[in-house]
Amino acid sequence: MSTKFKKLNKSIINCSKCLRLVKFRKKISNTKRKQYINETYWGKPITGFGDINAKILIVGLAPAAHGGTRTGRVFTGDKSSDFLYKCLYKAKISNQSNSNHVNDGLKIYNTYITTALKCVPPQDKPEKIELDNCFIFLKQEFELLKNVKIIIALGKIGFDACIYFFKKKYDFKEKLKFSHGSIYKLPNDMKIIGCYHPSPRNVNTGRINEKKMVSLFKKVSKLSKNLS
Ligand code: SF4
Repeated sequence: MSTKFKKLNKSIINCSKCLRLVKFRKKISNTKRKQYINETYWGKPITGFGDINAKILIVGLAPAAHGGTRTGRVFTGDKSSDFLYKCLYKAKISNQSNSNHVNDGLKIYNTYITTALKCVPPQDKPEKIELDNCFIFLKQEFELLKNVKIIIALGKIGFDACIYFFKKKYDFKEKLKFSHGSIYKLPNDMKIIGCYHPSPRNVNTGRINEKKMVSLFKKVSKLSKNLS
């Protein structure tokens, strides 16, 4: 990992700008979920994970309360990550179908995964000011991930945060609407595709299923190979 990325990740981990979120992540880490009562929760903001030279960038909403906030790695140790990695593995984007803890040997190919917000918000509902505060980190990730050609935005909040970056950076004026499977052109020969978030709610209601998700990932993987 480059020095700049290490510096950025250190700033993320040490951040305590959003008082409501600092309080919430501490509360979760102290009270814990019953099944993890003997574990020490990470309890800090979560950095991105993966290949910093990747062409594919996946942007989710925020770490999960008993997933990333517990394990210390984005999309690790909860139901959303179980579903996400089952699909990434089937699309040949990861080396294994599970993401349980930081030492589980997980690798993702040609892909970097991050979130719009680096701390878990209560009820998974961030306030605008919190997204604005955290945008500084997403912006730096965009700037350091120089090879990214296609972004998979997991859910509307992640999608809107990415579009906001292009509006700011390139004065991009198009009004793009989150829609699962729709691919949009972005400045600098980049593309963005919306994808339903792999949350249990979306899986249980049938909004998203394994077939649809794997198909979208395969499409992106194929596309990324043709984008230079
Ligand atoms: S959400 Fe982002 S800006 Fe707010 S405290 Fe966490 S890392 Fe800092």
